[in-house]
Amino acid sequence: MEIVDCLIIGSGPAGYTAAIYAARANMNPVMYRGMQPGGQLTTTNDVENFPGYPEGITGPELMLQLEQQAKRFAADIRDGWVTKVDFSGPTHKIWINHGEKEIHAKSVIICTGASAKYLGLPSEQHYLKIGGGVSACAVCDGFFYKNQEVVIVGAGDSACEEAHYLSKLCKKVTMLVRKDEFRASKIMAERVQQTENIEILFNTETIEVLGDNQLVSAIKVKNKVTGMHTEIPATGFFVAIGHQPNTDLFAAYLDLDETGYIINQPGSGKTNVAGVFVGGDAADHQYRQAITAAGSGCMAALDAERYLATF
Ligand code: NDP
Repeated sequence: MEIVDCLIIGSGPAGYTAAIYAARANMNPVMYRGMQPGGQLTTTNDVENFPGYPEGITGPELMLQLEQQAKRFAADIRDGWVTKVDFSGPTHKIWINHGEKEIHAKSVIICTGASAKYLGLPSEQHYLKIGGGVSACAVCDGFFYKNQEVVIVGAGDSACEEAHYLSKLCKKVTMLVRKDEFRASKIMAERVQQTENIEILFNTETIEVLGDNQLVSAIKVKNKVTGMHTEIPATGFFVAIGHQPNTDLFAAYLDLDETGYIINQPGSGKTNVAGVFVGGDAADHQYRQAITAAGSGCMAALDAERYLATF
């Protein structure tokens, strides 16, 4: 069992920013990087809206820089993921890798982010599990479908961004929008509408992912207005329908909203449990940007610093 002043769970922009602030404040932060070291940005290509990079930067590069910055101040960054917590006492207990290690932390900063959502169709899950052509990350997997035909489902900014990315690699991209309109911002929606090899099917829902049991070959869809079923030939099926916060682990102790986001006290990183703080997408269903995650990671670390001063 190890006792630490400040434990940071998660390694996206929120986690690393919290680590930089906590390390510079002599809080000796220990970070567990989790299942996806670097977080969602490691699956993003160009980041053009993170201030300080006039020419843009790739997501993985940005995360590497944040990690180096945290290490410069001696943040203790470790591989491993938190599998259980107990926030019932004055010192918070955290178990790593199913009990391999037990940590008692005076303060905890949760930066576990969010994960991609899937439709939940059995055929989608089948091809996802076997790596047969279902993906939630065009930037990670688009390359495998070079000069092929793919289908993407979703109508938000992510779906538009990913459809546009895929259009540069693939022969044809068919976009399935379940309503008669986009949810995406006007500029993003217009970009896909103006791209020649993107076909947008409104009022269309996915019925089944078809294939030979090994590889995807088509997507069966239904037009919700006409009721007509169609099969769209495709070797790749991309799902871009939003994200789910990674907060299940904390549900027994922390107040969560109806979709699972941690409820923080307005304008702070404080949760309902003293000494437990949150930054990033785990508590943010509204902005979900790298820069807002970094900002809230900073707030959580400053709140933890003030808390430790009274511990
Ligand atoms: P959103 O929650 O904004 O959009 C999810 C989309 O998926 C909606 O269009 C929704 O449809 C659709 N959807 C949900 N469930 C289903 C389903 N079962 N079947 C079919 N379609 C479904 O998520 P995003 O990931 O797109 O964006 C998250 C946040 O990140 C937003 O705030 C966005 O602005 C931001 N973002 C910004 C970017 C940028 O500015 N560069 C890039 C990417 C994201 P419906 O509309 O019918 O509800």
